[in-house]
Amino acid sequence: MSAAEEFMIFLEANSEEMVRVIRTEEIVQTVKLMKTKRNTIQIMNANRNKLFEEKTTSPNKTTGHLTAACTPKTRCLGGFLVAALLCFALGSLGAEAPALTQDQQSWLTKANRHEKAGWVYVHIEGIPRECGFQYGYLLAKEIAQGIKATRTDWEYGSATKWSWLLEKASAMFVRKIDKENLAELDGIIEGMQAAGVPSSRAEIIAYNAYLELDLYWWPEELKKIKEGKVNPAHQSCSAFIATGSMTADGVVVLGHNTMQGYWSALPSVIIDIVPEKGHRILMQTYPGWIHSGTDFFITDAGLVGAETTIGGFEGFDPKGVPEFSRMRRATQDATNIDQWCAIMKRGNNGGYANAWLLGDVNTREIARLELGLKYVGFEKKRDGYFVGSNVAEDLKILRFETTDHETDIRETEVARRVRWKQLMTQNTGRIDVESAKLFEADHFDAYLGEEHPGERSLCGHVDLERRPIQQWPEPNWPFGTVDAKVVDTKMARQMSFAARWGAACGTAFDAQKFLAEHPQYEWMKDILQSRPSESWTTFAAGEQRN
Ligand SMILES: [Zn+2]
Repeated sequence: MSAAEEFMIFLEANSEEMVRVIRTEEIVQTVKLMKTKRNTIQIMNANRNKLFEEKTTSPNKTTGHLTAACTPKTRCLGGFLVAALLCFALGSLGAEAPALTQDQQSWLTKANRHEKAGWVYVHIEGIPRECGFQYGYLLAKEIAQGIKATRTDWEYGSATKWSWLLEKASAMFVRKIDKENLAELDGIIEGMQAAGVPSSRAEIIAYNAYLELDLYWWPEELKKIKEGKVNPAHQSCSAFIATGSMTADGVVVLGHNTMQGYWSALPSVIIDIVPEKGHRILMQTYPGWIHSGTDFFITDAGLVGAETTIGGFEGFDPKGVPEFSRMRRATQDATNIDQWCAIMKRGNNGGYANAWLLGDVNTREIARLELGLKYVGFEKKRDGYFVGSNVAEDLKILRFETTDHETDIRETEVARRVRWKQLMTQNTGRIDVESAKLFEADHFDAYLGEEHPGERSLCGHVDLERRPIQQWPEPNWPFGTVDAKVVDTKMARQMSFAARWGAACGTAFDAQKFLAEHPQYEWMKDILQSRPSESWTTFAAGEQRN
């Protein structure tokens, strides 16, 4: 019997006594997690700190069965008992995670995480290093999984070492990242280290910048190596934003889904950031990213935003500021759409060149910023809509910076653009968050003229295509929609939005079954993850758990 198993039996045998003095929920959750996960060290660390937090920060607050009146110096019985047990277990397991410093323990009292409907929700707040520490510590396991998927994808796709990419990324980016973002990235590493999951600054930077490195920088490098043409990579998402006479209440409504490879790191995190300076942010992200990446965000400045990539884009400036760093700065620092766009344009490196759909719920304005490398498209209005399906709307960007054929409806981006315009026309004056959910889960194929979940539907299922027609080079590519999010003015004012994990329509994906049916993707076997069917759920800034 392992030390962990011995500990669990001891814990269960003594649970009745412990329930009297501390919250039942904490014990149940600890035991449940320990039963299902072998990575006990991190979980127990997190629970130990959570317990200290509850006992030390709310001297007069009733917590379950106990009115806590504890200070760090006079730990009450419940906290002491569990802490002692956890320390015993940690010792027995030979945990390598170092003891937390007083500062670190204090930082963790401000942060928390919980899981809901397939998502991991995390709240962080404070100075950048503190935010980073909370993030790295509480999500160490998920960040490690994200890095593993990213590393595997890179080494298989590029035939070069991960360590080589880390060196290149550091040399290119470190000096371009502002001090606050860099401090938060360093804090993440410190937090992971404290949780017993080591990483490095170079790794966290390359991981945060992976989209712009893999899809924008690397194709330019590959052109030099191959001395010839390289197909630009595609990343596909579907989004719209509407306001004024388009929507049921005349307010701003925004919807977005993410299409990506199922083997890649997955954007399963909802993060609530309360920075020392700047605006509070609630956004979707990948574990350990300081920006969104998918992108979907709201801020307490009243801004909402999402993007779809500019399809077939080519170009990258290695001397510019990485996109991930600009996006975080813009979202945290901007008080209106114009400021947000100005920050994004400053030092633009062309990485992750997107069409940003933005809304200001205070003015009911919406805007589209198409940020190419050489050209920029911008439009703003108080009545109407913008859609995103990976076709550049700005003709100069389209002609000079992409390889797209905007009228070939066999192409997914063209078919989805046509479908978006159909939906906007059919729903004029009626658009709200409920219709937005249906749009993001839409399966109509505008080329075939019928319901067909696949390469051209807004809710993408490229994996279901046995004979793809145009866009994707191979059948059954495990690529498609992995989420959906919607928000309107009312929700944004309450700092909340609705989200669905997995396909926007709720279709589950079974990794083992997929690999058995399509063994050509064997290389993904260690990173391809199943996604069960989940329901829509609402998230709000500051929520504890449901
Ligand atoms: Zn679907």
